[in-house]
Amino acid sequence: MSVVPEMKQALLASVSAADNGRKIKDPATGETVGYAPQHGVRDLQNAVDLARSAQPAWADAGHETRSAALLAAADAVEAHAEELAQILSREQGKPLNGPNARFEIGACSAWLRAAAGIPLEPETLVDDGETRAEVHYRPLGIVGAIGPWNWPMMITIWQVAPALRMGNAVIVKPSEYTPLSVLALVEVLNTVLPAGLLTAVSGGRDVGEALASHPAVSKIMFTGSTATGKAIIKSSADSIKRLTLELGGNDAGIVLPDADAKAIAEGLFWGAFINTGQTCAALKRLYVHEDIYDAVCEALTEVASAMPMGVGLDENNVLGPLQNKAQYDIVERLVDEARKSGARILIGGNPDTEQPGYFYPTTLVADIDNNNPLVVEEQFGPALPIIRYKTVDEAVAMANALDVGLGASVWSPDLEQARTVAARVQAGTVWINKHGAVDPRIPFGGAKQSGYGLEFGVEGLKHLAQPQIING
Ligand code: NAD
Repeated sequence: MSVVPEMKQALLASVSAADNGRKIKDPATGETVGYAPQHGVRDLQNAVDLARSAQPAWADAGHETRSAALLAAADAVEAHAEELAQILSREQGKPLNGPNARFEIGACSAWLRAAAGIPLEPETLVDDGETRAEVHYRPLGIVGAIGPWNWPMMITIWQVAPALRMGNAVIVKPSEYTPLSVLALVEVLNTVLPAGLLTAVSGGRDVGEALASHPAVSKIMFTGSTATGKAIIKSSADSIKRLTLELGGNDAGIVLPDADAKAIAEGLFWGAFINTGQTCAALKRLYVHEDIYDAVCEALTEVASAMPMGVGLDENNVLGPLQNKAQYDIVERLVDEARKSGARILIGGNPDTEQPGYFYPTTLVADIDNNNPLVVEEQFGPALPIIRYKTVDEAVAMANALDVGLGASVWSPDLEQARTVAARVQAGTVWINKHGAVDPRIPFGGAKQSGYGLEFGVEGLKHLAQPQIING
């Protein structure tokens, strides 16, 4: 095993407060990673005061200056990339290698650069000689960014970068499971940003609630569970906050009968198992036509059996542990229920309880009913149910049967046919022959109870601004 012997301690030490902090453990080993400061509602008020004094000058600075700062922030992230990746790997559990920790840091700088580079000019709506109406995009003021533990740094950047670009100050509330990663990232960003503009308040649910209800905060960018999204709608109601809600999903993939099982197996695998299945827009229910059902099961099992899972700092591994015990318990319960119902476990399903860490093996479950809990609940872990279908109408109906609709995918070499099926699926994004591919140029957001509002691209910038019409 080629475990990196020691990580650079500088950043981690600077975000750790060993004397009074909350102990954060590596989910792969149980070892202590560091100590998170326990901020409370009083710290939040300090952050609000700082944001209030820093934001007007930042708003006045204009797009060019703000974009230059975001580019400098991207450079700073790149300069600290390996250090950040190691903190992330140890705290979140995801391996350094594969589409994991280093990939996540790369995405942070890519999204910072994209937010800096997208043009957003005022638009002329009417200019007929009598009326001239323009829409301008003004800063909102203070934005609260509340994030989850699965892609903690990348999602923080998704929230922070467009907010800063549009002239806002930002207060980040990281997940209590992964505060050190986000605090380290904020510290790196703050090496190039004006003081007070970006702060992180590392508290629990109470701090999240206080941020979502604070009268000085104009908008909440939230990524997390649908249940918390509903709570934020309620707590933000009194101050009529703007909200972007990126919530839970249970993405369906539909494999059409003409697909080539071997050719798509690796794409299906990573669509489902990226970040060990702990991804909002991962493939979580796979519908396969009966003609190629066995071939797809076989090809997926072959790919799955070749993907090493283990401690994140081991360069060989591409899959890691579940981030926390509560998530491990959900995955274990769902697979156990599927097994008891008579479903067939193709691979996995037998965790090694002697091993330290929250490792649940890569699990594929075949011959499972569409109403099984492993299909209808969000597993958010490395267990994929594979459901057989007879007609495309039946597959589309099953894909659309749930009240969430973040992403979906259709798999076929016949792109025209795939697009026709995609149009019938109720999801914010439908990918063809891939799943979960996000791109900073392309808007991303959920349908149904997977949330509302868009991130990325010019639409993402507009969601962090107050549109103002000048009519005269
Ligand atoms: P979570 O909802 O439990 O927690 C997310 C954040 O909300 C944490 O920082 C938490 O402290 C805070 N919070 C909790 N209660 C709050 C309240 N009442 N008011 C304000 N803040 C509160 O989510 P999680 O378990 O960290 O993340 C997993 C979930 O997130 C999954 O359902 C997943 O699908 C979803 N997710 C969605 C996206 C997306 O883009 N749509 C991306 C990643 C994760």
